Amino acid sequence: MRASESRPRKVIPIVLLPQHGGVVPSSDGDVDLVTLHAAQQKIYPRSVSGYFSSWRWVMVWLTQLVFYGLPWLQWGQRQAVLFDLGARRFYIFGLVLYPQDFIYLTGLLVISALSLFLFTAVAGRLWCGYACPQTVYTEIFLWLERKTEGDRSARMRRDGAGWTPERVLRKAAKHGLWLSLSLWTGFTFVGYFTPLHALGGEFAQLNMGSWEIFWSLFYGFATYGNAGFLREQVCKHMCPYARFQSAMFDRDTLIVTYDAQRGDPRGARSRKADPLALNLGACVDCSLCVQVCPTGIDIRKGLQYECIGCGACADVCDTVMDKMGYARGLVKYSTQNAVSQRWTRAQIVRHVLRPRVLVYTAVLGSVVLAMVVSLALRTPFKVDVVRDRGMLARQVDGGRIENVYRLQIMNAMESAQDFDIAVEGLRGLVLASDNSAVSIASTQARWVAVRLQAPYDAAKPGSHPIRFLITGRNGIGQVTEKSVFIVPQ
Ligand code: SF4
Ligand code: SF4
Repeated sequence: MRASESRPRKVIPIVLLPQHGGVVPSSDGDVDLVTLHAAQQKIYPRSVSGYFSSWRWVMVWLTQLVFYGLPWLQWGQRQAVLFDLGARRFYIFGLVLYPQDFIYLTGLLVISALSLFLFTAVAGRLWCGYACPQTVYTEIFLWLERKTEGDRSARMRRDGAGWTPERVLRKAAKHGLWLSLSLWTGFTFVGYFTPLHALGGEFAQLNMGSWEIFWSLFYGFATYGNAGFLREQVCKHMCPYARFQSAMFDRDTLIVTYDAQRGDPRGARSRKADPLALNLGACVDCSLCVQVCPTGIDIRKGLQYECIGCGACADVCDTVMDKMGYARGLVKYSTQNAVSQRWTRAQIVRHVLRPRVLVYTAVLGSVVLAMVVSLALRTPFKVDVVRDRGMLARQVDGGRIENVYRLQIMNAMESAQDFDIAVEGLRGLVLASDNSAVSIASTQARWVAVRLQAPYDAAKPGSHPIRFLITGRNGIGQVTEKSVFIVPQ
């Protein structure tokens, strides 16, 4: 007997590429290398209709009407929503924001994060299942796939067979539709940063700029790749939210659950059979809940991080329950506590309103209120003061000390405005230049050079704090900006 036959074989887990197969014997014959890499199985989600499916389509329409429609809306003479990066102005209907208004973007991000925490604590991955662009575009692409290649069984049958002219035609039609929608999506995305009406004219004359072409193609192909090919892989492996959302779940979070107490033991039976007599639960083990799942999981195995909470399995299971004449809700939105303790709907709602949810709601409400009040009370112009770096201070006629400044006044209103400039903070300090009143066109910014003078003995040599007061003539408010006045030795 050879030595290698008497010894037990060692198994070493490694990561191999799928084409290497599951087990690779090593060259010395003593060791098996076992791949931990599971080859990706293509998912063919079956179409489904029902309550949650209808809500998904409502959200698809809502989000896409907003996304595709918004950049075409006009507000006076300009696009209603435009992020003009070149001019460094953001137009959102009547609001004109400058980079100095960055605080509002921060506020928006804080509100988005708090909303995500709140909705996740209440109802799990609502965002993923109904409003995330990845879900929404995958839903649209799947619909186009069904229209061109048929539903799940037809697609699986054709993909399993060889290439036929019909299959080529169907695939070509599908990819043609996918590409058209993707490119339109990329074009619309660019329309949020470049006036879309002008962009449309440039597109018609094949005269688009290189950056516009680049971003249209980039965003378009990202849509094509993510919604057409990567699909659930984005949710499972790329999205960070999928990884940390479980930290926001608890046993009172509404999730899609399988009622194992009611469903098990599972088994096929005829419609007329008595499940009690057969010692079976309500689950007929039809596997339809797995077939409709866009991430290909089996909800009957319990809460899994791959579940995006879309409710497709609940819809299809309800149709099975209807056919069998059983009560609906074997797979449903519920909480882990509610399922294990057989809670009523009122009890579920009472437990949903728990301290963590109330705290999230209070904090979110406060931030939203602060943001609304701040926007309502915001002065519609901004001022930046820059000291002239070429000359700190100089002595002029009459022994007076002169400092020079540059003021940038940004008019965020959609009409021309007149502003008065004044200074204070030092005895005898006056505006020596003849531009104490300036006019600035709508949504424009203007640099104004101003000279300030003070008597030689107004203050000791050194740097002295002063304030510029810029007042809008039409009662639009006053902005105070701090600076310093230098008195030389
Ligand atoms: S769809 Fe419902 S009945 Fe069919 S296998 Fe899934 S849980 Fe069971
Ligand atoms: S398990 Fe159900 S709710 Fe979760 S992703 Fe699959 S179909 Fe959607």
